Amino acid sequence: DHEEGRQRNYRLAYFDHMTGLANRASFVDLLAEAVARQAPFGLLLIDIDHLKVVNDTVGHVFGDLMIRTVAERIAGAHAELVACRLGGDEFAVLVPGCGTEKCMSDAAAMIIASVQGLIQADGQAIDPHVTIGGALFGADGCDAASLRQNADLALYHAKETRRGGFVRYTPDLRTSMLERARMVRDVDLALSEGRILAHYQPIVRLDTAEIIGLEALARMRMPDGRIAAAGEFYAAFADPRIAWQLTGQIMTQVARDVRHWLDIGIDFQHVGINVTSGDFLRGDLEQRIVETFGCAGVPLHHIALEVNEAVFMGGSDLVPKVVRALRARGMLVALDDFGTGFASLTHLLSFPVDVIKIDKSFVDQLGSDVASGTIVGCIIEVARKLDMTIVAEGIETVAQSGVLSALGCRLGQGFLFSRPCSTLDATHLLTTFAQKRDKSDRRDKRSA
Ligand code: GH3
Ligand code: MG
Repeated sequence: DHEEGRQRNYRLAYFDHMTGLANRASFVDLLAEAVARQAPFGLLLIDIDHLKVVNDTVGHVFGDLMIRTVAERIAGAHAELVACRLGGDEFAVLVPGCGTEKCMSDAAAMIIASVQGLIQADGQAIDPHVTIGGALFGADGCDAASLRQNADLALYHAKETRRGGFVRYTPDLRTSMLERARMVRDVDLALSEGRILAHYQPIVRLDTAEIIGLEALARMRMPDGRIAAAGEFYAAFADPRIAWQLTGQIMTQVARDVRHWLDIGIDFQHVGINVTSGDFLRGDLEQRIVETFGCAGVPLHHIALEVNEAVFMGGSDLVPKVVRALRARGMLVALDDFGTGFASLTHLLSFPVDVIKIDKSFVDQLGSDVASGTIVGCIIEVARKLDMTIVAEGIETVAQSGVLSALGCRLGQGFLFSRPCSTLDATHLLTTFAQKRDKSDRRDKRSA
């Protein structure tokens, strides 16, 4: 009895009861021992992606199963890895004998691959993913505390820039974190002071230069009055709370402006609003859109949701669900920055959108690079067959516009036509250059 009691207490003290892995207390000891040995090793910190969404949508029981399964798969990835559960959905792995970046990234890749594979229970099936940050003993820290802190920073960075992948600590991660923290503070203040503004860039018909729609773009009025473009404060959007608030304020302004344009009889098809993955993950995007535009009395067919490739293909099941629901309500959906990331033409078959926006990087090379022309030509061809509209972004020269027209692209935006401008300037532009449509030519995609 005494021996059994002793063993039970030992297990409780050093092992995680849910997964059977070494627990946080063990990890602290193991890490201290590894440092004391002064031999090479790597520390990987691993965190499951989007577990909260799984808990909220499928339930905690499935969430628990996911933690147990991921734990088992991490521990089984390679016999030499020492795996611990630090708590929640976070794990640590010591990689003994690992003295190079290659060795550490190989171990991380092995874990990432091992973790994947559908988990099925109660009619639900989910493919788990993890993100990993790592630090090497010696190069990235010589004591337990700094190694852990640096691996943690790398994990944090990986979650934002390479979700589902691995990032090794480098000193510049610290600088970029501080820079981002400053930016988040600036944008936070601007949001509370009403200094985040919707500016508009016209989308035009390439053959006549008539404006058919606009894209709303966030701008920040700086305390000195200067207007900062999104590129200057873009990093702050990685904070989901900031992104969520910013989307809300932009939507409210767009709703107000669109209502005004409709009231004064300006004809245009749609205004695009950009949304981030944070907006989808909150789970209330559809409701916010319906309420915001509903309160302002703006029909949803005048609004296009611009979702970029990374968000579109980001793995969250919420995105297709929300996109489908909003399209069913008459809203248009545009796939933004097409060609920059993982989206392929085959994705479009399973995940239909109304508009594909070809990224500026392709447009930049048109004329000088034959391959770009071929790719853009193919995209236009496929889009036409799938009854999707193409908009080319970032058109700066007459030559680019000409090549795009020749390839069959009808619509575009870029500095050649207009830079993004204030509501007042956009109103002037619309009054002068908006496409005058004969009502029979009304191009409502879904009724067509
Ligand atoms: P991210 O992709 O950024 O990692 O977000 P996440 O949703 O995975 O959330 P995060 O890692 O920030 O936080 C972990 C979440 O995991 C918080 C909590 O809802 C959930 N969680 C923590 N412990 C348990 C547990 O024992 N069981 C279950 N089902 N969920 C847990
Ligand atoms: Mg997580």
